[in-house]
Amino acid sequence: MTETTVDLLIVGQGVAGSALAWQALRRQLRIHVISSPVDGPLSASQVGAGLITPITGSRLALAWRFAEFRSSALDFYRFVANETKRDCWRNRPALRWLTTAEEELWLSRCQKFPTSANYLQPIEQDLVASREHGIQGPAGTKPYVMPEAARVHLPVFLEATEKWLMETSCISRAEFKPCDLLWDEVACHWKWRSMTARRIVLCTGYTPELIRLPFLAAKGELMEIDLPGARQDYSWHGGIWMTPQEQGRWLVGATYDPLHLDHKVTSQARLELSQGLAQWSVKNPQILSQQAAIRPAVPGQIPVIGWSLPESILIGGPEVTWPQQKNCGLINGLGSRGALWAPLLANWLLDAMAGQPLPPEIDLARFLRS
Ligand SMILES: Cc1cc2nc3c(=O)[nH]c(=O)nc-3n(C[C@H](O)[C@H](O)[C@H](O)COP(=O)(O)OP(=O)(O)OC[C@H]3O[C@@H](n4cnc5c(N)ncnc54)[C@H](O)[C@@H]3O)c2cc1C
Repeated sequence: MTETTVDLLIVGQGVAGSALAWQALRRQLRIHVISSPVDGPLSASQVGAGLITPITGSRLALAWRFAEFRSSALDFYRFVANETKRDCWRNRPALRWLTTAEEELWLSRCQKFPTSANYLQPIEQDLVASREHGIQGPAGTKPYVMPEAARVHLPVFLEATEKWLMETSCISRAEFKPCDLLWDEVACHWKWRSMTARRIVLCTGYTPELIRLPFLAAKGELMEIDLPGARQDYSWHGGIWMTPQEQGRWLVGATYDPLHLDHKVTSQARLELSQGLAQWSVKNPQILSQQAAIRPAVPGQIPVIGWSLPESILIGGPEVTWPQQKNCGLINGLGSRGALWAPLLANWLLDAMAGQPLPPEIDLARFLRS
């Protein structure tokens, strides 16, 4: 095998690794991606719904730096669509139903802040014409609309990225093991198989066996149901969420289970999601499929970027000593917002490689200090 030299070796082809690959391409960097073998468990990116939602949670909190992340994401996914002729971005406003007294309380607080209020607007009842189509909000509740909500079809994005990487011979299907990696002290580069790389970045999602991060991961399950005739122009949020797919199918999610970090689909999740659907008068839906994956999250619900990683963060096993000259980084902790966050995070990491400081909120240093 001939030896290949790249600027950047990326481990993992979820949304984080894929976004990093494209952003590096935009900076004319030579890259190679190590992607796990196809027979492994589904990644969060393969399962995730890709919803981009400004206001979430029972406290109706506006997502961190939402406008900046959204604008960067839109620009990014448009660039990818242009390169691959596969468009994964959909502008899809979301209806948010307030289902608890606590949420009503938070709404009145949220409306005092113009920045948040713009993202969650009252909606005329006759605009919610879904009633004739079999979905209706819980009795006595009012919907609000999030016009800035959108959806990234992650499977389309991942497939288009993989195709591009394969066509340019920039991907290897392998399980990356730190013991396969060698640091050439003299040349100041990494060696992985027949590859030579100046830098390496781990975008491996929930991998406590590889990276020593204070993961607060949570398993999530979602299902696809058949709901022909329902209008397709909104996602619905309130307790659970549902978002339209093609041909009368809807995605419904998602459970949140921090205790069972496996990939098994469960009858409890099916029950929980079905009960959530019942509040919208969707009874006994035909369930077409169900999937589970693990969201990689860290404390603070803000992602983490590390560049020039300290040895203590990487689990290498006895064979490997991570070098002092650490041209090594990570993007992780994308939690429930990978589709929104990955493009700008990738840019921030590339800036950090070029000597720019990282925003302190996401810098890995926040974990190293404590
Ligand atoms: C049910 C559910 C619903 C969700 N809904 C949304 C949503 O609506 N909107 C949203 O933005 N986000 C959502 N998310 C979260 C989103 O999917 C994640 O934030 C995102 O996918 C994380 O991306 P990642 O690339 O960091 O990790 P991953 O997707 O886990 O990707 C990591 C990749 O690295 C590979 N890898 C790991 N170790 C190795 C190794 N040693 N060698 C080679 N490869 C390796 C893995 O196989 C995987 O392909 C949801 C998640 C779940 C589970």
